[in-house]
Amino acid sequence: MRTLIEDFITDYVKSYPALTGTVTSWLDPLVAYADPADPLFNELKTIISPSHLLPADLLPAARTVVAYFLPFEPLVPESNISGRLSSKTWATAYVETNTLIADLNRSLTTELAKHGYKAATLPATHDFDRVKLISTWSHRHVAYIAGLGKFGLNNMLITAKGCCGRIGTLVIDVPIAKTARPNREYCLYKLNGSCTACQDRCVNNALVNGVFDRQKCWAMCRENAAQFQHLGPASVCGKCLVGVPCSFTNPAAPA
Ligand code: SF4
Ligand code: SF4
Repeated sequence: MRTLIEDFITDYVKSYPALTGTVTSWLDPLVAYADPADPLFNELKTIISPSHLLPADLLPAARTVVAYFLPFEPLVPESNISGRLSSKTWATAYVETNTLIADLNRSLTTELAKHGYKAATLPATHDFDRVKLISTWSHRHVAYIAGLGKFGLNNMLITAKGCCGRIGTLVIDVPIAKTARPNREYCLYKLNGSCTACQDRCVNNALVNGVFDRQKCWAMCRENAAQFQHLGPASVCGKCLVGVPCSFTNPAAPA
């Protein structure tokens, strides 16, 4: 089933632009698997919020949590390097990828049902506490638990293909061997203090001295959402993801 799931995700993402007419294209996805019984899921109730859900809250018979990363084609991050506001290409990619994740999760759920399995999903973005800016299911933290990558100073998950893309997750009742979490930092700041590129690029002082200010970041995202409201919900910024060593790769990987 692991091969079926990975082939399904890869083929779906590859064929999506031609099928739906998206402006955006994506590189081959990365996929990782977590154990729903991993104690780190419980820790999210402390780290993020007591209301953070457990895999079994989504699917009582959960056996595996699937996390995947959909890397944007390079022209998307490159378009977002200059200027204070996000590029239209970046905002479009955000909106289109959220729809892709919803469609992919729905289609994969249907495919798994043909084999007698169940899946439960949540949208790439969903309702979250607008005051505390906290979500009840953090795809990034779930992907971290699954071993898809490590958090960077920019508060994003750095994967083997960088951080310029989007993360989707599903909870399934298929037993699949779990992915080992990386035992080494991917972020150069965390590894040896040799990089602060994301902090230097922040356009709203939301990253200062290694501290992330959620409210300032959200204010910038709202500014872009207002600018691009004709595209759909685009609460984006991403200036700290582009033109940096971890945009497309794990910069701490041995050469
Ligand atoms: S830009 Fe540098 S400091 Fe920031 S997350 Fe990437 S590797 Fe870490
Ligand atoms: S997304 Fe924008 S505002 Fe938020 S930390 Fe990155 S550069 Fe700063």
